[in-house]
Amino acid sequence: MNKIVILGGGFAGVEAAIKLKSYGHEVTLISDRDYLFVYPVSIWVPTRKKTFDQVKINLAHLQKKHKFDVIVDKVEKINTDDRIIQLTHAEVSYDYLIIAMGMHKLKATGMEYTHSICGQPEEAIEIRDELDKIVEKREGRIAIGFGGNPADTSATAVRGGPAFELLFNFSHYLKSKGLRDKVELTFFAPMKEPGRKMGEKPYKKMDVFFNHYKINKKIGTPIKEFKENAVVFTDGSKLESDLTIFIAAGAGHKVILDSGLPVNEAGFIKINELCRVQGYKNIYAIGDIAELSGPMWAAKQGHIAEVMADVASYNLHNEISGIGKRKSYWEKLHIVCLMDSGDGGAFIMRNHKKDLIIPLPILGHWMKKAWGFYYKNTKLKRIPRFPWM
Ligand SMILES: Cc1cc2nc3c(=O)[nH]c(=O)nc-3n(C[C@H](O)[C@H](O)[C@H](O)COP(=O)(O)OP(=O)(O)OC[C@H]3O[C@@H](n4cnc5c(N)ncnc54)[C@H](O)[C@@H]3O)c2cc1C
Repeated sequence: MNKIVILGGGFAGVEAAIKLKSYGHEVTLISDRDYLFVYPVSIWVPTRKKTFDQVKINLAHLQKKHKFDVIVDKVEKINTDDRIIQLTHAEVSYDYLIIAMGMHKLKATGMEYTHSICGQPEEAIEIRDELDKIVEKREGRIAIGFGGNPADTSATAVRGGPAFELLFNFSHYLKSKGLRDKVELTFFAPMKEPGRKMGEKPYKKMDVFFNHYKINKKIGTPIKEFKENAVVFTDGSKLESDLTIFIAAGAGHKVILDSGLPVNEAGFIKINELCRVQGYKNIYAIGDIAELSGPMWAAKQGHIAEVMADVASYNLHNEISGIGKRKSYWEKLHIVCLMDSGDGGAFIMRNHKKDLIIPLPILGHWMKKAWGFYYKNTKLKRIPRFPWM
């Protein structure tokens, strides 16, 4: 039987493992973490609505339910000539490879003075502890923002949603502690129109949220560096801050940059519409690690990672089985987001034809919570999955 190896145990890798196993293949998933981290609900760790453990799904539990093999080890090198993956503690061979190791982050000067909700999972705990200190002091300044990657012309490496969600959640949390007027909250970003990718209507509506949650804005000026208690901009201005949360734009994964696989200027793996790596018949790349081509508004999201996993698994299965049909991820591209604010939220949608935002006071928050429950429990087969998701 053909040996399929999947690198990465996040949204994309786990979905591909589940799908390929359901087609009856031999599948080995390799991850440097022994859990899948459900990033979209990790925004609630700092405000103590979720514990760190509640945001994890143990790979051993997924393995037991879906019967794929799991190796917890770090991928050091991909040798495509000999079809061998070099891990820290072993070597694994493959016939077919699916690469799903997410993205690395662009470095900025002084980043050690910042925290990120989109980096290593444990950083969510560090942010929680820093927020606790401000709550204890009963005053402070918090700056939350995101950056771009100049080499990424389509801006698919920008991750803005979690910054907005943290700002609104922090505002709501501080209000519940009677501290909303004592703690300053400021959003910063170098672009003139941060969040524009969501579409015209959602972008315009963001000001309503910023006003409602009393959030200051410092946008449109490039960031020079971060200092211990400040964000410094290229025009010399400074944003003083006791807690700086900065979501750096995505960049290529180090292992990929060293592998000889084709990458675009920003370092993301070049694939075709089948999710197959350009120039390789037996290698697919899915999720954040891959270049998203298509409309300029396309964005790297968890559910797009799952769409790509579905497409790659289907195409790989048909390739092995000698079936002619193929699927393309291009026509399935869209943005769907439940933006949470701690006490409500908004449903944001964009596709080839339209964009929309529906504010959902109270309900939005419970819908995102319900999604978290659904995601975890369908993966563990505790509840059935909607056929369209
Ligand atoms: C805070 C936050 C909130 C978000 N909210 C939303 C949302 O509301 N909706 C939405 O659709 N998307 C959201 N996203 C985006 C979504 O989480 C990502 O698009 C998704 O996680 C991408 O999945 P992936 O499998 O490609 O990468 P990841 O989930 O990053 O998984 C990568 C996997 O590869 C493993 N790995 C990496 N390097 C190695 C190595 N060298 N060796 C072995 N294993 C390795 C990692 O351990 C991990 O298991 C959010 C992201 C963040 C950070």
